[in-house]
Amino acid sequence: MIKVSQLKKEFIQGQEKTQVLKGVDLYIEEGEFVAIMGPSGSGKSTLLQLLGGLDVPTNGEIQIDQHSINQMKEKERTIFRRKKLGFVFQNYQLLPNLTVEENIAFPLHADGKLTNENSKWIHELIDSVGLTGLNRKRANLLSGGQQQRVAIARALVNNPTVLLADEPTGNLDRARAEEILGLLSMFHRNHKQTIVMVTHDIFAAGFADRIILFRDGIIDQVISRKDGDYAKYLANFMA
Ligand code: ADP
Ligand code: MG
Repeated sequence: MIKVSQLKKEFIQGQEKTQVLKGVDLYIEEGEFVAIMGPSGSGKSTLLQLLGGLDVPTNGEIQIDQHSINQMKEKERTIFRRKKLGFVFQNYQLLPNLTVEENIAFPLHADGKLTNENSKWIHELIDSVGLTGLNRKRANLLSGGQQQRVAIARALVNNPTVLLADEPTGNLDRARAEEILGLLSMFHRNHKQTIVMVTHDIFAAGFADRIILFRDGIIDQVISRKDGDYAKYLANFMA
């Protein structure tokens, strides 16, 4: 589903060049749930931005669903992103003055207005993320956990093939984080979405099929649930 080859990203600010990604090769199967971990500044968010076509690499190639996204023109990439990808961020990024249902509908219509065709689907999504009855509540009146539920529903409104989540539980307490991870796992199980989640939290990473450890712009280590020592590895990490 996702194939990354020799991906490099350099940022240039004035005279300063920073090489953030130094040659990343990565293959993610359809329906896989992958967690990306690693120290702050190691390039995790940069990788996710590139996977999502929100920025372009300096070198290398990214294929999603057999489309080479870095070779697309910007407009084509935007259309691809809207059709095929969903995003969840640490700080929710909702439109504060819009209601729950308007936020979720927003990727379908720039004004978030419900239409006859989409209103049933939007209400189903609201139910499935556990926000029944809050359709008309304004986003800025919700708790953090509720806002992240809205963000997940919004990310899923286009039925994406790939869901990209950058520290989705980073601003939440443990109980709220567990609920959000439970939701992501449920969608992953039921809809076989491919999920790539950046996280600092080994507990969160434990929901994934595979953990990719990043260090200084390269992949340092990969631990897979299929490996016999996955549980032991997680236990060690948490100890
Ligand atoms: P992580 O998500 O692993 O904490 P990031 O991908 O956000 O790391 O950042 C990696 C490095 O790239 C950091 O040193 C950061 O300052 C730098 N960086 C990220 N985005 C930009 C940008 N738009 N311009 C310049 N430097 C950037
Ligand atoms: Mg980051």
